[in-house]
Amino acid sequence: MRNPLGLMLACVVTPVVIAAVWFWTTSSQRIELAAPKTVAQLADRLAAAAPAARPLPAREDVEVTAAIPEKPAAPPQPKNTCANPDALGVSRVVVVDTAGGPGFGFQHFKQLDFLTDKEVVLTFDDGPWPGNTPAVLKALADECTKAVFFPIGKHATYHPEILKQVAAAGHTVGAHTWSHANLNSKKMTEQIAKDEIEKGYSAVKLALGAAPSPFFRFPELQHGPAAMAYLGSRNIAMFSCDLDSFDFRAKNPEQIVNTVMTKLDKQGKGIILMHDFQKHTAEALPTLLRRLKAGGYKVVQMKAKAPLQTLAEYDESLVKDMKMPVASTRPVGNVVQTVSE
Ligand SMILES: [Zn+2]
Repeated sequence: MRNPLGLMLACVVTPVVIAAVWFWTTSSQRIELAAPKTVAQLADRLAAAAPAARPLPAREDVEVTAAIPEKPAAPPQPKNTCANPDALGVSRVVVVDTAGGPGFGFQHFKQLDFLTDKEVVLTFDDGPWPGNTPAVLKALADECTKAVFFPIGKHATYHPEILKQVAAAGHTVGAHTWSHANLNSKKMTEQIAKDEIEKGYSAVKLALGAAPSPFFRFPELQHGPAAMAYLGSRNIAMFSCDLDSFDFRAKNPEQIVNTVMTKLDKQGKGIILMHDFQKHTAEALPTLLRRLKAGGYKVVQMKAKAPLQTLAEYDESLVKDMKMPVASTRPVGNVVQTVSE
């Protein structure tokens, strides 16, 4: 009995053992196989997930959405609130890299032709001046358009509050020497030319409380070679013009409008030279801007890539000069006392 029983047992147990061994082996194989499969899947999943996770907001996106501010929020920019739906406006803004002192305006510089047909740049010299400059600012604001101003240093010290309004309105502010000296005259020396240029910029900076743009216009468009070399070394862009309004000679506002429009219709585009110092110009401007709009002209605003670093010695000497008459800092009660009433 033993043998048959043993055989029976063997018959039953052996397959069970074989089955158990097979199961154990295959399942462990399965586990071994499954593990790398799972890792591979995980790797795939990670690889698939990585690109999705990687595009963290670009720097610009961060600033726009303000999701992760990296620096304190910038002061709110004045909103572009143009009340005039038919305004002349600004068609484009260009930024000028003034390195090396590039020249603009075909009357003297023929290299940089950046304006396309029907594009104009509005420029105003010799301000700031009471009455006229504010009137020019109003005309520009009514048309929601922008210009470049070249103030005289002395005028900036007389009327800093007006020049501040020019900058506050978003216009570009360069300079036009300290005292409107002809930098190309026979008497002009390199030192005087440098003083005129630098003192002019320091005066504009003092008036604005901020650095001006490194944009310069020669008084009377008298381009002295030494002064040009100096401006180049200071990385200041030089502005001649394409189109002179001769507004300082005009007998009335209509004459200015006609001169500008006649020249413009002939030339098709250009940097227009005017003077916010001139009364007739201030009077002509509302009509002139309407005519530009009607003629299909578009205004381009020119801005500098970076402000001008004025020279400390000129800033300091100007402040000293300005304070000369009131050198004493004693309170008035210590200086003037009532002795009899
Ligand atoms: Zn001038």
